[in-house]
Amino acid sequence: MTESSILEALTDVRERIGRAARSCGRDPADVTLLLATKTVPAERILVALRAGYDLIGENRAQELVEKADALAVVPHEAHFIGHLQKNKINQVLRHASCIQSIDSTDLADQVAKRVPAERAPLDVFVQVNTSGEESKYGVAPPGALDLVAHVGAAPQLRLRGLMTIGLFSADEAAVRASYRRLREIRDAVLSAEIAGAQAAYELSMGMSGDLDLAITEGATMVRVGTAVFGRRPTSDAYYWPPAAPAPGH
Ligand SMILES: *Cc1c(COP(=O)(O)O)cnc(C)c1O
Repeated sequence: MTESSILEALTDVRERIGRAARSCGRDPADVTLLLATKTVPAERILVALRAGYDLIGENRAQELVEKADALAVVPHEAHFIGHLQKNKINQVLRHASCIQSIDSTDLADQVAKRVPAERAPLDVFVQVNTSGEESKYGVAPPGALDLVAHVGAAPQLRLRGLMTIGLFSADEAAVRASYRRLREIRDAVLSAEIAGAQAAYELSMGMSGDLDLAITEGATMVRVGTAVFGRRPTSDAYYWPPAAPAPGH
């Protein structure tokens, strides 16, 4: 995609966010746009950063590290939104201001003990697997409140909210149900008044294909890649969403 098509796409996505928010009586300013930049070269990400879109998300520690120098010329924030391996935590902490993919007590502990004192508390989200698809990471919904309590109790971590990857399906009602599920869990977290989780109201949910649905279900942050930067190489099976649904789906 050319520079001007990226800029046009950004405007289109912002308009979609605005329409979806207004359609359910929400303020568009209450929905943050995070640019999912996996596989996108730094020079194309810079087009967006220079236009004032200052929040990106990377899935892989290696990519986060590789692009960091090139992107540092424009002030921005990077969140980590992929599955985090323990041996990559230190690398990620050097470049990301928030980890959205905390999905086990073990990972929470490993991250907490590596947060440099001057960076504490580190912003985190608990990732919930609301779709039940085995191919996705995230704590299963019945375990979400316990994990939230565990994270809330760690002084090195500041729980901002919950994240999910919606159901990968053309069935709108089913996709919507997965997002509603995350909102219900968030509401349960807030009403349980769990120590350290009283401000965990963020809902990071919705991608290029379904951000409108996610916003009407309460998303406070949408993570958008394809709709801004174009299609990713489909040869890389690591990346979600896959070119075609996995067998059995
Ligand atoms: C790739 C990715 C996105 C963005 O997906 P698009 O369909 O390209 O918008 C959002 N969240 C996560 C965790 C991703 O890996």
